[in-house]
Amino acid sequence: STDSTGALVKAEIDVAALRANAAVLAERLAPARLKCVVKANAYGHGIDIVARGLFAAGWRDFCVATISEALHLRESLGEEATITAWLYGPSTDLEAALAARIELGVSTVDSIDRIRDAARSTNTVARVHLKVDTGLGRNGLAPADWATALEKLRVLGSDTESAADAEPAVDVEPAVEPAVEPAVEPSLEIVGLMSHYAVADEPERVETSQQTQVFDSAHRELTAVLDGAQGRLGESERLEVHIANSPAALTLSPLPGTSARVGLSLYGLSPLEDKDAHDLGLVPVMRLVSHVVNLKDIPSGHGASYGLTFTARTDTRFALVPGGYGDGIARTASNRAEVSIRGTRYPVVGRIAMDQMIVEVGAGEVAIGDEVVIFGPDGPSAAEWGAWADTINYEIVTRISDRVDRVEV
Ligand code: PLP
Repeated sequence: STDSTGALVKAEIDVAALRANAAVLAERLAPARLKCVVKANAYGHGIDIVARGLFAAGWRDFCVATISEALHLRESLGEEATITAWLYGPSTDLEAALAARIELGVSTVDSIDRIRDAARSTNTVARVHLKVDTGLGRNGLAPADWATALEKLRVLGSDTESAADAEPAVDVEPAVEPAVEPAVEPSLEIVGLMSHYAVADEPERVETSQQTQVFDSAHRELTAVLDGAQGRLGESERLEVHIANSPAALTLSPLPGTSARVGLSLYGLSPLEDKDAHDLGLVPVMRLVSHVVNLKDIPSGHGASYGLTFTARTDTRFALVPGGYGDGIARTASNRAEVSIRGTRYPVVGRIAMDQMIVEVGAGEVAIGDEVVIFGPDGPSAAEWGAWADTINYEIVTRISDRVDRVEV
């Protein structure tokens, strides 16, 4: 009962569920718009299956973290998609990003200059989202840098700066008027303001509304700068404003911003401890499955797996199930996790190894070749695995490794 590629562990990706989740979330967000977060291989679900599945259903706005993810996505989706990326360093090739029309988040003052230079050398208009740190302390312009960045933009947007820029280095009259429209004026356009919440998954905490207030005042300041530049840096009315992630999108009302960057809940997983996917009207998109490849009778007192951390207390039966930390299955869930076989839960006993795990099926009705649901619909949830592995459902799906085939269902 393996598929034609012989894959023993598969991540089945339910594209219909993905699209249904997107529709549910978009309705919840309206009038704010959905930005689909597909970074880290679409949270382990497979970026091509996910992004193309969403694109085919009409979604056009995608976010990733890195430029290489963004370039991959441009290849995968073509020209029509809007792609935003926000994580890069001093050695990242921003020209490649601009040439591929990637919108860039800006978290340092220096990157404003770098992006402007890259826009000039690629003869493009760089579309940027200023990223302000409103309290997370991670990526984003800190308060002092925010003030410096605004000042820099004020200068860039002023008449004198534009005039100086327009002046050619050597004053040469063109012999003839160009017959075609000149190439676009290389420049920087501020198309967005963004930030990120720290504790939106804990709705009772006050820091979320404090972050929103800081964000709102950043928005007012940026609006003043854009209006003062009279369109030379972009239009304040057209500014896209986004701070909400999944937990914010599911809990805040009204939702701050004109769009929300939604990742986890798109995949049908809940970011909230007290609500599961079903409570939120979402369907888990990934089902991680394997198969029983061996069954053996085990006498009482027999151990299981490396370290013999489990000892059978009765005569029992072990099922051998391909799937281990080489597939991205958390070893920290050893001796705690459960899997489902024919609709019944059985415990994972002993340490999860690189390639395989032992499941104690006892007297249960289990045969070689049976499907084993590690997590997903008809099995334990990714959130349960998160609890067993001392982590969160985000990590459980994202860490599923390249060895596992993603199969669209
Ligand atoms: N925005 C940024 C900057 C992120 O880093 C992430 C993911 O961590 C998201 C949005 C999406 O968050 P979530 O998966 O909770 O929707």
